[in-house]
Amino acid sequence: MNAKNGMLFVVAAPSGAGKTSLLKELSKKNNRVIISISHTTRKPRDGEIEGEDYFFVDEKSFKKLIEENHFLEHARVFGNHYGTSHSFVESQIQTGKKIILEIDWQGMQKIKAKGVEIIGIFILPPDYITLEERLINRQKDSSTTIKQRMNAALDEISHYKEFDFIVVNDKFDETVAKLNEIISDPKTDHNRRNSSHDKFISKIMAQRD
Ligand code: 5GP
Repeated sequence: MNAKNGMLFVVAAPSGAGKTSLLKELSKKNNRVIISISHTTRKPRDGEIEGEDYFFVDEKSFKKLIEENHFLEHARVFGNHYGTSHSFVESQIQTGKKIILEIDWQGMQKIKAKGVEIIGIFILPPDYITLEERLINRQKDSSTTIKQRMNAALDEISHYKEFDFIVVNDKFDETVAKLNEIISDPKTDHNRRNSSHDKFISKIMAQRD
């Protein structure tokens, strides 16, 4: 899957790590970057645009797409279905694009299990408090959902070892630059996961209770 140096990446992050804005900026900076648009059965949030943020479909249409083998992977997250379009990814790779999937570690594992080459990048918040604040400041979800998302965020962080690169989102512009370096040269050792990340993550997890 790397015709003309096209390549597939997963960029995962706990909700509130700042992933969406980082990726929007990255795709503005690097015109070879394409963010894959998933299908979902989730209802659009305020400001979300059909065909830009997601393809919003109902349960019946989603089921039909599964039967038609439309998805490279699909999963149920927070009670909604999400899926990555196989044909979209394939066609973009053929034209040498760097395709970024915004999916979780489970989605990445499903793709790896199909023998597809994929590089995993995990974005971390700088600390626990920032993660919590960013989740609350979004104010797009109810407080029960925020709690659910905080727990899900910490669970997601606990899977950081599945990923090849770890990027801490402390300063926005620097984080975008780091992401650009990784996708431009996936052989780079900068930001490759190493033992220093273990300590950093233990510290975040220790604040869980
Ligand atoms: P949100 O509803 O906040 O946009 O996304 C919720 C979660 O669904 C995020 O963790 C996101 O990574 C995940 N997600 C979005 N699209 C897909 C997809 O196509 N496949 C999988 N497996 N997860 C997805």
